Amino acid sequence: MHQTKTQAGLTGKKLLIITFDYELFLGERSGNVQQCLISPTDKLLAHLDKYAFKSIFFVDTIYLLRLREQAAVSSLAKADLEAITNQLVRMLNSGHEIHPHLHPHWIDAVYDPKINEWCLPDKRYYTFAALPEEKRTELFDQSVDLIRSVMGMAKQTHPVDAYRAGGWSIQSFDNFRPHFLKHGIVHEFSVIPGRYLYSDAHHFDFRNAPIDRPVYHFSRDVCERDNQGGFTEWTISSLPRTAMQQWIYFKINGMLHRLHICGKFAGKAIAFNVKEQGDIYNRGKATRQIASFEGLNPYQVMRFVRRIKRQDYFQFISHPKLLNEFELKMVGLLLSSLSKNRRINTDFRKYVKVD
Ligand SMILES: [Zn+2]
Repeated sequence: MHQTKTQAGLTGKKLLIITFDYELFLGERSGNVQQCLISPTDKLLAHLDKYAFKSIFFVDTIYLLRLREQAAVSSLAKADLEAITNQLVRMLNSGHEIHPHLHPHWIDAVYDPKINEWCLPDKRYYTFAALPEEKRTELFDQSVDLIRSVMGMAKQTHPVDAYRAGGWSIQSFDNFRPHFLKHGIVHEFSVIPGRYLYSDAHHFDFRNAPIDRPVYHFSRDVCERDNQGGFTEWTISSLPRTAMQQWIYFKINGMLHRLHICGKFAGKAIAFNVKEQGDIYNRGKATRQIASFEGLNPYQVMRFVRRIKRQDYFQFISHPKLLNEFELKMVGLLLSSLSKNRRINTDFRKYVKVD
C-alpha cells in the first residue's frame, strides 16, 4: 500500500477504475439484448456522464461475431446488432473505452429465431486455453478487428490495448501472450488477488498475485510481478467484510427482496460444477466480496465510499445484465457521493507511474 500511495502521490489523485463486462447471459438462455444490454447500459451511462466519470466496457466480441452472422439472415438479429453498435459508438463519443472480452463457448451457441435469443449449453470451449491454437488466433484477430471497426464509426477513439478474459480465465497467460504481442495489448484486467476457482468451466488461480500492489508489470505470468515486463496488470478490488457487516448486508438485501425490489434476471447464467474455490484472504467469518455494483444497497454504497476514501486504487467490475432498477439507482447514489471527492481520477491512462 505504501508504494501505491507514493505512486498516486505523484499526481495527487486516487485511481478509481469502473469496468463492465458487456455481455448477455452465458447459459441455457442468453436473455434479450434490450433488457440485458441496451436498457441497463443506457442508465449506467447517464449516471457516469453526469459526473464525467470514465469507464471501460469489455465487450463480448465472439457473441457479436455470431450475431453478425445471424444478422445476415434474421431481421431481429440485425436490429440487435444495430442497437448494440449504436450504443458502443455512443459510449466512445462520451469518452468511455471499449476493449475485447472473449467468451469462446459462443462458437457453439445456438440461435432460436422464435424468441430471438441464444442457448449456450456447451462448456467445452469455455476457456480460451481449451481452443486449438488456430481457432484462438482466428477469434482473437476477429475480436480486435471488430472493436476497431466500431471505433471507425465513432468520433472519439482510443488505443485498443486492454483485455479482460471471459470468466477471469486468463491462465495460462502463454495462451494469450502471442495475441497480446501481435495486437499491441498491454493492459490486463482479469486478476482478483487471492481468489481461485476451478470448475468444469472456469480455471483461474490468483493466490500468488501480489496483494500489496494493485497495479504491477508482468511478463509471462499474470500473478508474477516483473518490473521489466511489457504488460500491466490492473487488479480487480475486493471489499472485506466482517461477519457483522455481512449480516447487515444480507438483512437489507433480504428485505429488498421481500419488497420485490429485486427484479428477475432476463436470462440464465452458465451452470457449472465447482471443484475448488476460495479466497486466501478470507479470515474465518470475515470474508471479501468482489467490488461490484451488483447487489448494491444504501449500506454498501456507504461502505464503498468509505473504503475508496482510504485507498489510492480501487477497481469495480459489474455486469449490466445483472443490475436491476434499484441497483441502477444505487449506482447513481454511489457515483454522486464519489463525485464529491476531488481526488478521484477515473482514467487509468492518467495513472502516471507503475513500477
Ligand atoms: Zn464475461
